[in-house]
Amino acid sequence: MIHTESEALYKEACKMMPGGVNSPVRAFKNVGTTPVFIDHAKGDKIYDVDGNEYIDYVCSWGPNILGAARDEVINAVKAACERGLTYGAPTKKESELAKLVIKATGFVEVLRLVNSGTEAVMSAIRAARGYTGRDLVLKFNGCYHGHSDGMLVKAGSGLLTNAEPDSAGVPKAYSDCTLVCEYNSLEEVSGIFEKYGENIACIIVEPVAANMGVVPPKPGYLQGLKDICEKYGALLVFDEVITGFRLALGGAAQYYGVTPDLVTYGKIVGGGMPLAVYGGREEIMRKVSPDGSVYQAGTLSGNPIAVTAGIETLKLLTENPDIYTEIDRKTAVLEKAYRQSTDFTVNRVGSLMSVFFTTGDVYDYPTVARSDTARFAEYFKFMLEHGIYSAPSQFEAMFVSCAHSDEDIERTCEVVRQYFSK
Ligand SMILES: *Cc1c(COP(=O)(O)O)cnc(C)c1O
Repeated sequence: MIHTESEALYKEACKMMPGGVNSPVRAFKNVGTTPVFIDHAKGDKIYDVDGNEYIDYVCSWGPNILGAARDEVINAVKAACERGLTYGAPTKKESELAKLVIKATGFVEVLRLVNSGTEAVMSAIRAARGYTGRDLVLKFNGCYHGHSDGMLVKAGSGLLTNAEPDSAGVPKAYSDCTLVCEYNSLEEVSGIFEKYGENIACIIVEPVAANMGVVPPKPGYLQGLKDICEKYGALLVFDEVITGFRLALGGAAQYYGVTPDLVTYGKIVGGGMPLAVYGGREEIMRKVSPDGSVYQAGTLSGNPIAVTAGIETLKLLTENPDIYTEIDRKTAVLEKAYRQSTDFTVNRVGSLMSVFFTTGDVYDYPTVARSDTARFAEYFKFMLEHGIYSAPSQFEAMFVSCAHSDEDIERTCEVVRQYFSK
């Protein structure tokens, strides 16, 4: 495979942007190579500027559950563009999207549209603090909740990868308000609440951790968090930016039957456009301005083009619930191919999957961190050179979409078998 055009573009981009990219993981630093620059994508395939074709398991890091450039979404977006890109005033479509989210989740009563997952989490936490009148937030080591100051404490994803647990530029005063426990340990959470419970506004958790690779919650873990929150009058916030509309229409809350007080959605809910949501119980969300005194705003929030992409995507998912059984089935085929080819640990929940280059149970950040990242880099490069585009980091998930055909899956299994039999 030739990558000369990508290499030239990367060199140029590096002069103007940190790492040549607009989000760190895209730089391929962790796998010791340079990024492929994308020309276009359609359905299950992504094409780089050198004309190479790949089966795409990044799916834009989650949004493309319908595959790339789904016709219904593109046509609706094109029509919306003709009517103006932004007004900064309310539209009927915002309520239409709100209705779809409320119906799909079953527990969200009031919500607000924002522009990114980072913003959704930051705002949900502010609402939790405003509602409870408390300052502390509890998060989990290896969970990623976007890059707002208070959340950059042992955060996952790019940060894990860069072995830089904290970001420079975050005042200590912010991280002092964030408590961190290991994922999947209710004991640690109980201990922290015994000490600080009266001052904790909320627990924020990825109900399936998917930013340190895929790490499912142990049975009873999510319910246990909810029970502890109830006991101390703290709120439970599910960060479903990845899991929302992916594990089920109602996300992980539906999948595991545990209802949070507040929830954040991103990625899929915007159908590939910059849009995210935070919402939950009415009593809490009425604290948000202008109904209440928790301030939060956005010039482009509820942007008509993004809302249109979100509506079309959620409509398709709502009208075709079999999508969820199909992507689960296809990902199970992939899982089986990995399990039959290697003893390395494979974690999967629905259409989210990771192979960790380590053995034994992987259930929190310390067990994730045992992975051999050099080995991962070798595997990644092999897959790429054989036409499989997957996340360039051990600490990211593999995403399957409904555009992946059985042939794609079989072809991928073949490359997996080839790699592990080398
Ligand atoms: C991607 C992600 C975010 C951040 O969303 P952005 O749109 O990138 O700001 C937050 N939480 C989780 C769980 C995510 O996966």
